[in-house]
Amino acid sequence: GSKRPYIGRFAPSPTGPLHDGSLLAAMASFLDARAHHGKWLLRIEDIDTPRVVPGADQIIMTQLRALDMHWDEPPTWQSRHLDRYQAAFDELLAENLVYGCACTRQELPWGAYPGTCRKGLPAGRQARAWRFKVPPGMERFDDRWQGPQEQNVASEVGDFIVRRADGLWAYQMVVVVDDGAQGITDIVRGEDLLDSTARQRVLARHLHIDYPRVMHIPVLMDDDGRKLSKQNHAEPLDIAHPMHTLNQAWQALGFPPVAASDLGSFWSTAKLQWAQRFSVS
Ligand code: GLU
Repeated sequence: GSKRPYIGRFAPSPTGPLHDGSLLAAMASFLDARAHHGKWLLRIEDIDTPRVVPGADQIIMTQLRALDMHWDEPPTWQSRHLDRYQAAFDELLAENLVYGCACTRQELPWGAYPGTCRKGLPAGRQARAWRFKVPPGMERFDDRWQGPQEQNVASEVGDFIVRRADGLWAYQMVVVVDDGAQGITDIVRGEDLLDSTARQRVLARHLHIDYPRVMHIPVLMDDDGRKLSKQNHAEPLDIAHPMHTLNQAWQALGFPPVAASDLGSFWSTAKLQWAQRFSVS
């Protein structure tokens, strides 16, 4: 456990309004911050510009406010911190921890990156993406929801991309740099990102960043067993009936419904139950 004062975050990608699935991550990160008497930050992850929907950030903020979920510092936008990612990249470059890669997706086998360009670009080829040189070894950590985890990043993932072929910074890179820059002590997010955590931990270590504690919560599936997401047309949150919307998310997290007359008492009851469940004192 970290002795630093708790700082958590909700980090939505502004690709559309929040839906029942993304509310779970918002709710769990919010409650965990409140239960720890910590801060809850809102970070708009608008780095993947082709996927950004103009105005979605404002809609997300309106939705959160309607549910009485208030962040503790002005929100941040990744698109305003490109210098930060460049500085981190330069640090890796100076330590010879990144290299240019010419491989196209079609050229790569399924699974871990085989290291084709690690020893230099093939003759006549140009760098497209930039990859982080993953050191060998097993990465182990505890997840507060999922328990002990381990992944051999080098053999299971291989050298992963930190700067994409289109010039954009990769999610794995920006999330690590921002969590470090914002002093995040605790990540609470959907379990679809559990598989990214070992990669992020290794990268953080090489950037001299203290990687946060993690809790990966269940994700909602649609009727076809796919993660509920904007890509498969999840409905925006019903903020006209906030108590119902909150209780549905709360039950999806495995808690009994809260019979509260107003949002303030919903949140104080949920906060107590959360603190009990996760032994937060
Ligand atoms: N922006 C990511 C998403 O919306 C979440 C990143 C994170 O919580 O680490 O899926």
